[in-house]
Order: sequence, then C-alpha cells, then structure tokens
Amino acid sequence: MKKILGVALLLTLTMAAKSQVKIGFEVSFKEPQAHYAEVEMNLSGIAAKDYVDLKMPVWTPGSYLVREFGKNVESFSASANGKPAKVQKVTKNTWRVYNAKAAAIKVNYRVYAFEISVRTAFIDDSHAFLSSAGIFMYPAGMLKTPSTVKIIPFGKWDKVSTGLEPVAGQKFTYYATDFDILFDSPIEVGNQDVFDFMAAGVKHEVAMYGGGNYDKERLKVDMAKVIEQATAIFGENPNKHYTFIVHNYEQGGGGLEHLNSTVLGASRNAYGTERGYKGFLSLVAHEYFHLWNVKRLRPIALGPFDYDNENYTTNLWTAEGFTSYYENKLLIRAGVTNQSTFLNDIIGGLGTVINTPGSKVQSASSSSFDAWIIGYRPNENSKNSSISYYSKGEIIGLLMDLEIANATKGAKSLDDVMKAMYEQGKQQKRGYTDAEFKAMVEKISGVSFTKFWAKYIDGTDDVDFEKYFAYAGINAAREIASPNKPYTGAALKVERMVTVSGVARNSPAWVQGLNVNDDILAIDGSTIVDEMRSVRLPSPGLTLEALPSIAKKQVGDVVEITIRRDGLERKISLTLKESPNIRIKASYQEDATPQQIAVRQRWMGVK
Ligand SMILES: [Zn+2]
Repeated sequence: MKKILGVALLLTLTMAAKSQVKIGFEVSFKEPQAHYAEVEMNLSGIAAKDYVDLKMPVWTPGSYLVREFGKNVESFSASANGKPAKVQKVTKNTWRVYNAKAAAIKVNYRVYAFEISVRTAFIDDSHAFLSSAGIFMYPAGMLKTPSTVKIIPFGKWDKVSTGLEPVAGQKFTYYATDFDILFDSPIEVGNQDVFDFMAAGVKHEVAMYGGGNYDKERLKVDMAKVIEQATAIFGENPNKHYTFIVHNYEQGGGGLEHLNSTVLGASRNAYGTERGYKGFLSLVAHEYFHLWNVKRLRPIALGPFDYDNENYTTNLWTAEGFTSYYENKLLIRAGVTNQSTFLNDIIGGLGTVINTPGSKVQSASSSSFDAWIIGYRPNENSKNSSISYYSKGEIIGLLMDLEIANATKGAKSLDDVMKAMYEQGKQQKRGYTDAEFKAMVEKISGVSFTKFWAKYIDGTDDVDFEKYFAYAGINAAREIASPNKPYTGAALKVERMVTVSGVARNSPAWVQGLNVNDDILAIDGSTIVDEMRSVRLPSPGLTLEALPSIAKKQVGDVVEITIRRDGLERKISLTLKESPNIRIKASYQEDATPQQIAVRQRWMGVK
C-alpha cells in the first residue's frame, strides 16, 4: 500500500512539472477511399526557442527495419496564434515550425496509408488502422510529454479499439502518458466486431476486422487459457486491460506486440480448420508472451528507443526466438496441443535450423544484430548466408530449457529464468545485457553456460539435439531425408518461363554455377515444355530434380542443362548428388528413468 502511494505521488509531481506543455492530436478522414488520414496537432507551452522541430519515427518498435514513415506525410502546414507560421523540412523526418513561442501552435498534415501489414498504417473506405509510429509526430527532445488523441470516425464508422487509456466523458478521446506509450498503441477505427472476456483478472477486448468463420465463444475460452498459462510463468499480469486488434484477410498472418495490445493478421476462413485454428492460437500465444518478453523483460538496447536510428541488440534470439519457443509451451499447457503435437512442432523447428545452410555461417547473436540489414531484407542467397533469430532462438530456448531441467533434476526450467529476469528488470528499471542473461541462466541451473554460449549463441556449431532430448527420455536421431535420390540444390519458380529461384550452398547447382534468374530451356536435350507437361501448376517448392529427366536419374549421373542468362544461351553440366537434408525422428522412451520423467514434466509443464 505504501509503495503504491509513493508511485502515485511521484506521478503527480512529474505531471505537474510538465503541465505547461500541452499536446493534442485529432485524426479525421476526408478521403478514406483514397487512403488518407488528416492529422491536426495542437501544441502550447513549448516556448524554449523560436522554433520547434516535429519528428516522425523512422521505424516502429518490434519490427527492426527503418521504414521511413515520413515518406507518407503530405501538405504539412502550421499556424501560430492563428496566423500562418513558417515551416521548413530540416531532415528526412523533421519539420521545423517557427514562431514556437506563440501561445498556440496548430499543425496540419495528411498521411497516406496503403500498406497492409501489422506494422504499417492502412486506410480504406471500410476501416482505418493507425499504426501510431507512422501517424503521429513528436516535438524533438520531448518524448516524455503526455498527449491526447481524439479520433473522428468517418461516415458510419462507430468503433475505436486501442490499448490507450480513454479520457472519461470525451467520446473517442484517449490519453498517452508519453510518446513511447502513444507509439506503442495502434488504433483501429471502423465497424469491427468487438467482444471481450476476462482472463488472469484482466479485461481482454478482441476487435475483429474483415469478418471470418471464427467462433467467438470458443476463442474466448481458448484465448483465456493461453493467457492464464502465460501469466502463470511470470506470476503477475501487469495490465489493467488488453486489446487484440485482428485483421482478417483472404490470406493473412503475422503479428506485432505492444505493451497492452497487439495487432494480428489472420486468414478469415482459416478458423474452421484445426490447423488454422491452432495457428491463430499460436500467434495469440506468441504476441501475448511478448507483453513480458521484449516489452518489459527486454534487451538493454530496446528501450528507451531512438526513433531516428537503428537500435542494435545481439539479443533478438531471446526476444523473438524464445517467444516463438514459448508458443509451443503455452499451447500444450493450455490443452490446445498434446505431447505428440508438441514434439512434432519442436522437431519441425529443429529441422528448419539444421537444413538451412546459413545456420553454419551466421550465429544467433549476429543474426540479431543484423536484423536491420538482413533479417527484414531477405534476398535469393539468404538461406545460404543467414539464419533467422526466430528459428535459431527457438532451438536455443529448447536446448537451454532441457539443460537447466537436467542440471536441476527437474526442479527448474527456462520458466524460472524468464520470471527471475522479469523481476530483475523491474527492479533495475532497465533492460538486460547478454552477460546478465547468461549469469541468470547459470545461477538458476547451477552450471556453466560458457561453452553453450560459444557454440550456439555466438557460434554456429551443429545443434546436438540428441543429447538434450535424452535428458527428457526422448530418443532422437537424424537420417538422410531422401536417400539415393538425385539432388541439384536448384529451386525453380514458374512464371512466364521456368526460372531458377534459389541455389543451395555447396549443392551441384552451386558448384557448377547455375544462377538465380537463369531460365531453364532444356535438360539433356528435352525441352522445358516437355519437362513441364507432368508438373501440376501452381507448383510452390518445385525443384530442378523434380523434373522428369532428372528424377529418373541416379546419384552420380551427369545432366546437361541448357539455360538462358541475359539473353544468351549456354549449357551447364551438373553431377547429381544425394541431398544433405536431414529428417529427424524422435519418440518417447518407454523405459525413461524417474529423473528423465521429472525433466520432461518440468520442461513441458504438464504431467
Ligand atoms: Zn515476435
């Protein structure tokens, strides 16, 4: 009680100190069909200099790419005490407004919003999704200033859904204690289908845009179970209320985490299948787990944010990879999956890492660091040169979890590390360093993780999963996925021509210099038209060795491929090899020891 009073007093004092500066936004829509939002920003009490610099973030937290939101701003104008004020663009994302000492400054601008994703704004005549970092501007150096946002819905739109705090008595008006909160609170405006439920003592609102075959009652029950399980790991749910904004499209996916809300992409007719439904709940589990892992328990570089530049961290393997790993842990504990699906899902993730050539080139820490230039900018060679910090981080989580459970004979698990790190972060009021994370893992497990870090986090060692699975009484082994079958390593895409779309490192295609974008004209004299007769289109995942002239050959045979590159024909000979791809088999050991069973139960969190 005493502690709470202290916090309240501090908050009042802080607010009083800043109360001279007032910032209010009003967002309306004159031409939603043309994808525009009209933003009015009213400022008073700025005063320090004769100008104020208004800035728009260049990126949005959670999505580690400079997206240059300022490119969507048009018709920027300003007035001071009712008279037009001089404005000047001074950097790519900074607008300077003069006469800032005036009592009242009004700024108007339009934002073009036509990029469908969970991290970008989108407006049309059916709804407006305001991804705040790409809509609102902040006065330079004043990120800690509170602001209000009033939304004026268009036409017959009658709902606003957001994690922002509503201002009592003022319709569609919200309050943000600072710009970090505002930029972390997307706003959905339209006629979305809204329902709510209680879970972990917190009111959760779901705003569904785009329709779909979802069953509200079933979702309420299952989402609540996932939320309860996530909350149980950390021992508390830090929110007063939480909002899920769900965009249902013909084909949709992905999500973006926020402090007390999330935006999810979904396929509107996928809720009806078990696979689609489970996929949606996985996404819910992922984004919800983030409200601790990354939003609060976070790498030191991820907050307070620099909205002008890249924010580098080597820890996205924990922030994202562990979050992906916990999707499976939350679903089994919520009773959505069973032990066999749990193991299959884990093995699927392992296979991805082991069969990606880039996992032997790039470490998890450098994948994290280079998210800004590599992770969000894949090219034709990405699989050969990089590994996703999601995939690798998920496997690091698995190995670490099993190592901790084994070292403590089933008494502790990665859950204990996550909870302790969350509490430590709250006390320190800052993010963790890589060394602090490692120290906590070692403290809880009682063993050294120095070699583990060198091998799996900073290194690219082969993942020794057999050893770790054995701790939990699981027999796992690897075998060649397609023994004695010819393999070229060339992926194909079929559009106007049949074209090479990928070349795997060290494969026959790689060694002999078959290139991405080469058009395939013939194989051993058989034309591509003949080769394609037996191929059903569309054919995602088509490989060169799937074409009949190669499929019938043996490992060791040579084939001659006629290609066209830059308008010139040439021939390339490939000596067919066996594919190095591994299939992982795993099964529960029947004669597991009591310790193995204890490790397994601690790991999964179910008996
Ligand atoms: Zn994530």
